Amino acid sequence: MTTATTAITNIGSLVTNDPSLGAGPLGLIQDAAVVVDGDRIAWVGASRKAPATDNAVDAAGRAALPGFVDSHSHLVFAGDRTAEFNARMSGQSYSAGGIRTTVAATRAATDEELEANLLRYVREALRQGTTTLETKSGYGLTTADEARALRIAAAHLDEVTYLGAHIVSPDYAADPEAYVALVTGEMLDACAPHARWVDVFCEKGAFDGDQARTILEAGRARGLTPRVHANQLGHGPGVQLAVELGAASADHCTHLTDADVDALAGGDTVATLLPGAEFSTRAQWPDARRLLDAGATVALSTDCNPGSSFTSSVPFCIALAVRDMGMTPDEAVWSATAGGAAALRRTDIGRVAPGARADVLLLDAPSHVHLAYRPGVPLVSAVWQRGVRVV
Ligand SMILES: [Zn+2]
Repeated sequence: MTTATTAITNIGSLVTNDPSLGAGPLGLIQDAAVVVDGDRIAWVGASRKAPATDNAVDAAGRAALPGFVDSHSHLVFAGDRTAEFNARMSGQSYSAGGIRTTVAATRAATDEELEANLLRYVREALRQGTTTLETKSGYGLTTADEARALRIAAAHLDEVTYLGAHIVSPDYAADPEAYVALVTGEMLDACAPHARWVDVFCEKGAFDGDQARTILEAGRARGLTPRVHANQLGHGPGVQLAVELGAASADHCTHLTDADVDALAGGDTVATLLPGAEFSTRAQWPDARRLLDAGATVALSTDCNPGSSFTSSVPFCIALAVRDMGMTPDEAVWSATAGGAAALRRTDIGRVAPGARADVLLLDAPSHVHLAYRPGVPLVSAVWQRGVRVV
């Protein structure tokens, strides 16, 4: 071996997400060890059988699991929406229009300000165990502002999404079709080189089904894979469109018909649930139980953004999903790790197994169940990202 190896031994309970390695869907191993070689997992098994390594870390009975994969966030922004949140918690309802406040602040910010803000939230998420983060543009809504958001995101994150179609730019309020033409034309040309994914907010007040289809198909023709903000605020065509176009993920999925649930269960589009949004807007919870019972793949993410879900905490979302969305603790932990990886079509993350990227968390707790059992408690006590201890 050319790189230093490290063994994490005496892990009380290890979530591998590989059923061939341990018990149940989480592939749980008790009294486990993990060997890290460079940026990869080299070995996983019983602690007493761990091979000799250059370095050793004694987990002292703590639980370990894969780093969280947060497959949905909006972190390239400036400004603050405290006043809006305060008003909403005083009785007003959320509409898509509040995004305009952040658009104005983001356009006015310098590149350095946007980058510093992004890094602040990336580090904040990392401290809470998020080792993979997807983020989106969508607060620029001009060709130059969207392209710069993606350029800044791509410099720090490997999952970047073009969301020129977050809302119709205020500059095009009188002519939404002209904005769709911009998003699928000049703006797409400028943004596609910096992104892997194309997304659209398919919702009343944002983009209708026909507009969303035009935007996603244009992105796909430029090599971007679709993901969709779908069925958040009400019923609509977003989920069906996502499945039909082979989107990696339909995100929110709060208001679903039986046909929507069947489509998600029958296709390979992941249903990504974002309970931070329902929490922060006092809205109806998505029904994870219904999706899981139908056979859909469910991911759990933060939707971290300054308007409707200003949390970077995956553990918080796990606790909400268990408390209010019908998920078991095992299901919620799977969805926040392997589920997120599936929503990003990644096989190298979201599991602790030989060959996977060495993204591993230790909890100050004996079991992953404590993530839901002890809500609001900062249990993540150590984080390895690509084999490097970062927390
Ligand atoms: Zn979102």
